[in-house]
Amino acid sequence: MNVADSQRLGSALERLGYQHTPQTEDADIIVLNTCVVRQSAEDKAYGRLQSLRPLKEKNPRLIINLMGCMVGVRGAEKLRKKLPFVDVFSPPSDPGPLIAYLTQDETRHLEDQETGARFTMMDTESVLPEHERGKLVSAHIPIVYGCSHACTYCIIPYRRGVERSRPADEILGEARSLVAHGVKEITLLGQIVDRYGKDLSDGTNLASLLRSLNEIEALKRIRFLTSHPNYLSDDILECVAEFPKIMPHIEVPIQAGDDEVLVNMKRGYSNADYRQLINRIRQIIPNVSIATDIIVGFPGESEAQFMQTYQLLDEMKLDVAHLARYSPRQGTVSERRMQDDVPADVKMQRFRILEDLQEQIAAGINAHYLGTRVNVLFEEKVKNRWRGRTPTNKLVFVETDEDLRGREVLVSITWSGPWSMQAKLFS
Ligand code: SAH
Repeated sequence: MNVADSQRLGSALERLGYQHTPQTEDADIIVLNTCVVRQSAEDKAYGRLQSLRPLKEKNPRLIINLMGCMVGVRGAEKLRKKLPFVDVFSPPSDPGPLIAYLTQDETRHLEDQETGARFTMMDTESVLPEHERGKLVSAHIPIVYGCSHACTYCIIPYRRGVERSRPADEILGEARSLVAHGVKEITLLGQIVDRYGKDLSDGTNLASLLRSLNEIEALKRIRFLTSHPNYLSDDILECVAEFPKIMPHIEVPIQAGDDEVLVNMKRGYSNADYRQLINRIRQIIPNVSIATDIIVGFPGESEAQFMQTYQLLDEMKLDVAHLARYSPRQGTVSERRMQDDVPADVKMQRFRILEDLQEQIAAGINAHYLGTRVNVLFEEKVKNRWRGRTPTNKLVFVETDEDLRGREVLVSITWSGPWSMQAKLFS
């Protein structure tokens, strides 16, 4: 989401006459777009910000813009005092403050009086900055900003504000603009992407949006993430099954396998519900690949409760598991009301156990691809190998002198590992 936001901001700056530079030292404006979902992310952002300080001392005309979840939607007064060398503070997804600072034009961003959420008058005609046009194969479009769920561990609702869906015509406009610049694959983004449209009054929902996007001819592939288990309707799943452009790839986090932990997390489903959902997804979408997110070491998680997660992961045989160790986030319910009582070494141990398990599962699933032919959309050349993805979102590398950028090619898988595969072209 931050990458997508940064692209839009870059493009907006270009319309004001600025140009991209890959060299931090050459920049007149530096925008640092930040994530604080875990302490490690916040530490990284903070470190990077501090590293910009000497540049500001060397060049007092340099403008530093801190953007994203480190700032949040609730104002930056405290940060302003703590970080006097930062010139502009912007909430997530909002280029408004920087544009206003540069143009002294306050009318460029609007504030929703009721929710405090900010909307920006974005030019959906040009989403990509110039240096990415004609090069970027796979792009992201945020379709739902913010989040109104209240998972007890999660800081995102506090920093990104209430859930708000973007109007479908704005999203379709961005999609057409991206495709006009050579993009072949679009991933729709939302904290709970399958809730898209629930706050709109015109009946638009994720399924109807997918159907509209499917009509854009030069667009080859569509994905969406992240789904919450409670909102993955049959309508959405049937769309994925029905339209060849919509990739058979679902990201639907479980977070924990134990029912009591799930209640404490306030996720709103049980272990049994999740298992049923996985079966339903597999029934409706043949050869689907499924990814999940898991947090280990949530407050109070016992060894036996952790084993519930282990068992679920072992039995469900999902394609990918994004693992995280619980990190208390300031202001969240779990930080205020629960003890972070699972010791760091136990969190690490549980993390490693799941990592090893998932490595075996992924290796097993990917081994089925050996010797088969799959359609791969190639994105870029890394060293001497072209990197692309299967419809199921598996990484594939091919060594060739041919220019494969943006091409969907049938390849033959010659090697498979847990995290990637190698393939050869047919001659
Ligand atoms: N809205 C999405 C993604 C949220 S952030 C969702 O709910 O699935 C991505 C992942 O970070 C989450 O799925 C969760 O697994 C992890 N995460 C969020 N807050 C965390 C915390 N306090 N500690 C550790 N991991 C966390």
